[in-house]
Order: sequence, then C-alpha cells, then structure tokens
Amino acid sequence: MQAGMVTTAYIIAAVLFILALAGLSQQESAKRGIWYGIAGMGIALVATLLSPKVIGLSTGLSYIIIAMLIGAVIGIYLAKRVEMTEMPELVAMLHSFVGLAAVFVGINSYLDHPTLEPVMQNIHLVEVFLGVFIGAVTFTGSIVAFGKLRGIMSSKALNLPHRHKLNALALVVSAVMLTQFVNQGGNDTYLIIMTVIALIFGWHLVASIGGADMPVVVSMLNSYSGWAAAAAGFLLGNDLLIVTGALVGSSGAILSYIMCRAMNRSFISVIAGGFGNDPIASDEEEEGEIHSTTAEEVAGMLTSAKSVIITPGYGMAVAQAQYQVQDITASLRAQGVNVRFGIHPVAGRLPGHMNVLLAEAKVPYDIVLEMDEINDDFTDTDVVLVIGANDTVNPAAKKPGSPIAGMPILHVWEAKNVIVFKRGMASGYAGVQNPLFFMDNTRMLFGDAKDMTGEIAKHL
Ligand code: NDP
Repeated sequence: MQAGMVTTAYIIAAVLFILALAGLSQQESAKRGIWYGIAGMGIALVATLLSPKVIGLSTGLSYIIIAMLIGAVIGIYLAKRVEMTEMPELVAMLHSFVGLAAVFVGINSYLDHPTLEPVMQNIHLVEVFLGVFIGAVTFTGSIVAFGKLRGIMSSKALNLPHRHKLNALALVVSAVMLTQFVNQGGNDTYLIIMTVIALIFGWHLVASIGGADMPVVVSMLNSYSGWAAAAAGFLLGNDLLIVTGALVGSSGAILSYIMCRAMNRSFISVIAGGFGNDPIASDEEEEGEIHSTTAEEVAGMLTSAKSVIITPGYGMAVAQAQYQVQDITASLRAQGVNVRFGIHPVAGRLPGHMNVLLAEAKVPYDIVLEMDEINDDFTDTDVVLVIGANDTVNPAAKKPGSPIAGMPILHVWEAKNVIVFKRGMASGYAGVQNPLFFMDNTRMLFGDAKDMTGEIAKHL
C-alpha cells in the first residue's frame, strides 16, 4: 500500500472512531457506535500492516501477525467468559497493557533510532521520557485498580504518612531526571531511575484512593492510557495512534470530570491520589439493634403500599436478580401500586450498570429515575426496597470525616419502611459500615437477592 493510501485509510479510521464515541453517548445508538469502532480498528490494522514501513520487514511482519493472532485468541476468550460485574476489572487490565506497551515503545525508540539533528534529538528524548513515564504510571496504577476491583487488594485507601509530599517528591525527582537526561543527550541511568519512580508513583497514586472513588479512578486510568498511546504514536511516527490516543485521553478526562461532579469530588483531588480528602474520623463499627424480616412479610407490606421505590446496587448484579425484580414490579403495577426505581450514578461497578440490567429485564424506561430526580420523593414513599445496594444508600456520607463524606446518596431512610436485601452484615465496596441497617424503620431481609426477590414475587 502506498503512503498516500495509508494516510487516507488512517483518516477514515479516525473519523470512524469519532463516530463511535458519538454513538456510545446514547443508549439507542451505542450498538452502532461499537460497529463504527470495530470498522475503524479493522481499517487501521490492515492499513498499518500493509504500510510501506511494515511490509518492508521480512521476519518482523510474521512476528506481528503471530502476536496479533495470540492477542486475538486471548481477547476473544476473555471477552466471552467475562461476567458483566467483572468488566471494570477487565478494562483496568487492558489499560495496564496499554501502559506497558508505551513503556516498551519508549525504551525501544530510545535504544534504536537514527541519528538526529540536535534539536530533533532533544525533542525525541523528551518524547521518550514522557512516554515511558506516563506508560509506567498507567501500568502499575491499572494493576492496583484491577486488584482493588477484583477484591484481591483492600478497597480502602492506603493512607501512608506524608503521602502527598511523597507524590510531589516523585514528580520533582522525575523532572530533574528529565533535565539531566536531555542535557546529556540520553543516559540509561536517568531513564531507569525515572521508570522505577514512575512505577511506584502509579501504584501509590491509585492505592491511596478509597473504594467509593474507584469509578473516577477507572475513567481516569482510561484517560492516562489514551495519553500513553498518544505518546507511543509520537515515538512510532504513527499519526493515527496519536489521534486515537488523544481521543481516548480527552474522552476519559471528560468522563472523569462528569463522574467527579456526580460524586461531589474535586477532579484535582482524585487525580492527585485523593489529595485533600483525608478522612478525619475512623469508620468505626456501627452498633445497634437489627430488625430482620421475611419474604412473606415484605410481600404483605408491598401489597398494602401505595408508593414503592426500588434502589438496586451491586448485589442485584451479582445475584442476577433483575428478572425477579421486574416480576415484582409488574405484579405491583398491575395492583395499582406506583413503583419507581432510583438509580445512583455509581451503583454497581460500571457507569450505567443498573440501567443496563433493568433494560435487559424489560423494566420500562420511564419508571427508572436518576438519583437527583427521585431523592425528594422518599418522604412520600411507603416502602423502599434496597436490593444489594450499600454505599449508595449509606447515610454515613453525611458525617464529616467519614471516608465517603460528601458523596451524594439516595435518601432511602426518609421513607416509611426500608427493606434491605443482603446476605449478611458485610460493608459495601468503600468498606464503611452502614447506619441505615440499625434504623427503626429498616428491616433486613437476609439471603441471596435473587432467591428473596423470587420468593416475594411468588407471594405477590
Ligand atoms: P456496594 O458495593 O456498596 O454493596 C453491595 C452490597 O451487595 C454489599 O453490601 C453486599 O452485602 C450485597 N450483596 C452482594 N452480593 C449479594 C447477593 N448475591 N445478594 C444480595 N446482596 C448481595 O454496592 P452499591 O451499588 O451501593 O455501591 C457501588 C460501590 O462500588 C460504590 O462504592 C462505588 O463507588 C463503587 N464502584 C462503582 C463503579 C461504577 O462505575 N459504578 C466502579 C468501581 C467501584 P453482603 O455481602 O452482606 O450480601
């Protein structure tokens, strides 16, 4: 393929990527958006493989094809196997690959590049340094995010003493390394020291962020992985990679900003590893009396109610209880009960997680309301069903100093009766005990959410 044709193919792919992002912004057009993305990536891959730079490689080309085949087999296997609740973990793992690739591209480009004029040489060295730095931060940050989301690392924030000073020190030392690296026309030692610092910095940055802020961290790492890809694009002289990386980087940054606003968090504080969010009180164990109930009692309560709000959370996704929840909704609506859903912006483990599950079970869109639309209505509600939600309904967020202080929550306790569906007394993802469970108008319905909602549906 001639260079001109490759450029044309890249422009078409870039346009398709933009259309993909536009499509993904609406539920109705999301599928079409995915197809645009697949088409764009297909064109980009073929054009790159047939480009004069790559086609000229004798053995290199076969290595690329073998690597692509292995990658495709692993990708298809993982994508088929992954549960929807595991998607953020998979995304975090994929971000770590982008980061690692940027580190390798940077080091490779440093070790093996043609001799350049002094000015171009300096620009190249800065590109190498920044590419490796961003890549290394993304790599370890994403691995920690994976560990936290998978539950193999504590979701609580690691609050090292002087952690912000440590972060600042890492940045200052890296800046000094950059100056030395460029002044000396490249130097292995400075590059290695910075890589180690960036790896530790990325790990520490994400480890310092508490569970409730993880949605922002995932979208932020998405953004970092985009900038890492853009940096790799500069090093490889690949315009499409620069454009794609910039698209991912900026859309991830915009998503992080939107999520921060929804969570009442400062964008700067989250990207700086929870800067300014230090909890001043411990999340000590809440104590009090617990009132438990049975599925039969709840069914009775629901039939005599006029207004019911259901607030689902991660537990509904784990139990896959959405179909039973829809059965309850349909029965109650048929009996004239006003049933609505209150969806917290970070309920579950993915943006829009609850909306996807409820749509899958054919819950009508018009009774699924966002937190801000429904929060004032709890006072006039007879029964609230909290199905597998915890952090998103935790009144501890109102306590200054709590690790989730300031996070907007669903005011479920303002209703006459609250039924909490969960298996035991475990805390939510943020690891903060929930005073809601001990309130006088709360009844705990212990058991798997699917079994319990199924039983209630039967009684109804
Ligand atoms: P939480 O994660 O706070 O709590 C879920 C609750 O579900 C647990 O208390 C658990 O209690 C219960 N549960 C688990 N399995 C079952 C089951 N089979 N049947 C019944 N109950 C079950 O959920 P929320 O949705 O309220 O909050 C989401 C949290 O995840 C927030 O902290 C958010 O910041 C974070 N997060 C969100 C992301 C997003 O993009 N939406 C991404 C990453 C993190 P028990 O074990 O006792 O049953």
